[in-house]
Amino acid sequence: MSTTFSNRQFDLARAQLVDLLQKKGISDTAVLDAVGSLPRHAFVQEVFKPKAYDDSALPIECQQTISQPFTVAFMTQLLQVRRGDKVLEVGTGSGYQACILAHMGARVFTIERHFDLLEHARRRMEALGYNIASKVGDGSIGWSQFAPYNGIIVTAGAPDVPVSLLRQLADGGRLVIPVGDQATQDMIVVQRQGDEFVHSKNAGFKFVPLVGKEGWSK
Ligand code: SAM
Repeated sequence: MSTTFSNRQFDLARAQLVDLLQKKGISDTAVLDAVGSLPRHAFVQEVFKPKAYDDSALPIECQQTISQPFTVAFMTQLLQVRRGDKVLEVGTGSGYQACILAHMGARVFTIERHFDLLEHARRRMEALGYNIASKVGDGSIGWSQFAPYNGIIVTAGAPDVPVSLLRQLADGGRLVIPVGDQATQDMIVVQRQGDEFVHSKNAGFKFVPLVGKEGWSK
């Protein structure tokens, strides 16, 4: 059986993925539109393209993963992105989540600790025409130069909520971050209200570790 997909097959598979995400409870139409518009198959290696629209995480370079589409959509919905928001992503990976945010009209800043991964991601983001600021570094301490952010999304699992990220949230801003041990994490949402930080959580996620000064040591 041939594993070469036509654009039409990708379009069909992407539309089916959007239906599935809706059935799983994603209701933010801007998120659904972004998932329905972005070619996820452009963010994975050739061998994984036939699975690009399965609702599953897939391997990318440097032993990392592109997150499961439901997780991307769920976290983005929790972030409550509005056009023009300044959003920091920690963990660029393939660049897919950053492009979802940019497609929704956010001004996106993204940090990745692996240089090679960021180089691949930059090429994809540029090829798709998104203007996204990116750098190699330890995102567990944020990117203070451009703070404060209306939203911060961390796409790797942390042992605790990094204090540096809380400090870089704008008033009314939201941080979405998986926190737990290295086996499973809860999805934590922190909303800044002046000097108060209001937490809520959803259980049952599994991410690669956030490695850094305010993350895991390895
Ligand atoms: N958002 C990505 C995407 O759309 O493909 C998926 C990210 S993957 C699940 C998590 C990423 O976080 C990995 O690429 C990993 O190298 C990165 N990472 C882990 N710790 C980090 C840190 N302290 N700073 C920046 N990136 C980090």
